[in-house]
Amino acid sequence: MTSCLFCRIIAGEIPGTLLHQDADLVAFSDINPQAPLHALIVPRRHIATLNDLTGMDDALVGSMVRFAAELAKQHGYDERGYRTVFNCNREAGQTVFHIHLHLLAGRGLHWPPG
Ligand code: 5GP
Ligand code: ZN
Repeated sequence: MTSCLFCRIIAGEIPGTLLHQDADLVAFSDINPQAPLHALIVPRRHIATLNDLTGMDDALVGSMVRFAAELAKQHGYDERGYRTVFNCNREAGQTVFHIHLHLLAGRGLHWPPG
């Protein structure tokens, strides 16, 4: 059994509010939402951080970004605006070491971020 939280959510061992799943990606609601829409877009394959990506993953990461845009559109935020974020390692606040793209929408988002 894996100790990775997101691998366990993807495997259905831990409940999550699923928004989408396909052969390569799973999207679910963040348990501690920071905006009215706060989704996490996660590859099924375990990749710990952005530093572990290779050229073989370019299409996978592209599909994550495109799916975030699609999800934002499905929720009516494509014109209003939304933010996508990958946190990488400690100073960026990464707490789950299985890459995930945050999608935040539904309120004004400040810049620069904290
Ligand atoms: P990070 O800080 O690594 O970029 O983001 C991890 C995210 O995972 C956080 O926003 C946190 O709220 C979310 N999270 C942590 N544990 C769980 C969980 O058990 N279920 C879900 N759905 N989200 C979680
Ligand atoms: Zn994992």
